[in-house]
Amino acid sequence: MTKAEKYVPSAREQAFLDTVENPKYDRQIIKGLNVFTEGREPDYIKGFYSPTELEAFVAIEGTERDVESRMPVKITRHYGELAKTSAPLQRLVKASPDETVDLAGSEDPGHQMDFSPVEGLLHKYEMGLMYVVSTCSSHCRFCYREELIARKDIERADGTVAPKGLAQIGEVTHYVTTHNREVSDNGGRHPESGREKLREILLSGGDPMVLPNTKIAAWFAALAEAGIESIRVGTKEMAFHPDRFDAAFLSMLDRFHETYPHVGLRILVHFNHPDEFLERATDGSYTENPNGSMKWIEATRLAMDGLVSRGWISVENQAPIIKGINDDPGALRIMQRALKRVGVENHYFFCGRDIVAHKAFNVPIETAWHILNESQKGLSGVEAHARLSITHYKGKTEVAAVTSEPIPGVAGTENGVLIFKILRNFHGAPDRGKVCIVGRNPDAIWFDDYADRVIYDEAGLFEYDRTVETADPVLSVAGGA
Ligand code: SF4
Repeated sequence: MTKAEKYVPSAREQAFLDTVENPKYDRQIIKGLNVFTEGREPDYIKGFYSPTELEAFVAIEGTERDVESRMPVKITRHYGELAKTSAPLQRLVKASPDETVDLAGSEDPGHQMDFSPVEGLLHKYEMGLMYVVSTCSSHCRFCYREELIARKDIERADGTVAPKGLAQIGEVTHYVTTHNREVSDNGGRHPESGREKLREILLSGGDPMVLPNTKIAAWFAALAEAGIESIRVGTKEMAFHPDRFDAAFLSMLDRFHETYPHVGLRILVHFNHPDEFLERATDGSYTENPNGSMKWIEATRLAMDGLVSRGWISVENQAPIIKGINDDPGALRIMQRALKRVGVENHYFFCGRDIVAHKAFNVPIETAWHILNESQKGLSGVEAHARLSITHYKGKTEVAAVTSEPIPGVAGTENGVLIFKILRNFHGAPDRGKVCIVGRNPDAIWFDDYADRVIYDEAGLFEYDRTVETADPVLSVAGGA
């Protein structure tokens, strides 16, 4: 299907879509630093930026250090109210002149465009990821999709340069059905790439929850009709505007489940810090329930209950560990406990990616491992499921262990070692479980910082050759289309 051909829903799809309600949501969003520099911000958030900060923004406006060219400022009323009294939440949404002091980093972290067979779809694993929207209702300063949100030019695998485009229903479903038919006809593996069935798709962006219910429903139904087994939605809207998870949205999910009962739905929420969902007293302490557990902010509790009470939906949290936001074992311990108690799985914590200006946000890899490990001391086994992941160009990789003692007789281990373990890589994940052991470097924030101290590398992290690893006839044909 080409862009010119219009996607036509089936009768079953249309019957479902006809039931969807589409309310408007009043998020009272502040967009742009100029609202603050010109003194037009609403009363509730007056004083959010100091006069010195505002002067600094004006001084760098229009230069290469302009913070909004890197990442536009955006904040909802709900999050602004929470951030007023929370330093970690301020760090998450408040621009800082420090962000653009060092602009080192990649515009396409993970070389994602190497894996884009049609515009807006990344197909790297048995799961595909789609960009369905290029904004969120607030913007995290550390976002590793800043190139999408700020609409920057990105180089594609075929050498062309353009901003990342958004996925279109017709093109994506055509790709999915064609790929899966070829896999099926060939006995379970794609005849050219060797890949398995594409069975799960993640709606991402930006945040899909800023789209209207009708658009989300249209994606769900089209993917279900295309034979997708599970749909994921990656969202931070439960932190930014929990009222978005209202009766109309939940009713849409119910109708979808009735129409397509065999399609799984996974909501990947994104909480970085417990201040985003736990109620706090005026002294800043968390309010407790009678049994000593922590009390959720009412709007967020209602939103979360709406999801977890539907047993066919799985809800998981994943978040990066970011300097000044959640590089705090105590906060992470509270967060993991409080999420698991209401039925949310703690999935991944991430090391920051090598985005442009990453040095302002990333904590060293070994520090992140220690923070997570420390945070999980005293948690029960089910509360402590989260792993620390770092996304190598090759695929998702776990920071599995950091040791402190030398290994007798092994050079390079004098200060201990760090062990990476591959969790997934593209095609059939042939390298899953393979490890790479490097000598420690407490300052390392990216793989490059270990290049001079590799001890053992069966995972091949330090021999990675992008041109060989991504050679794929399907991708090279589609990439030029
Ligand atoms: S919610 Fe996610 S995509 Fe949106 S700005 Fe934050 S990190 Fe980026």
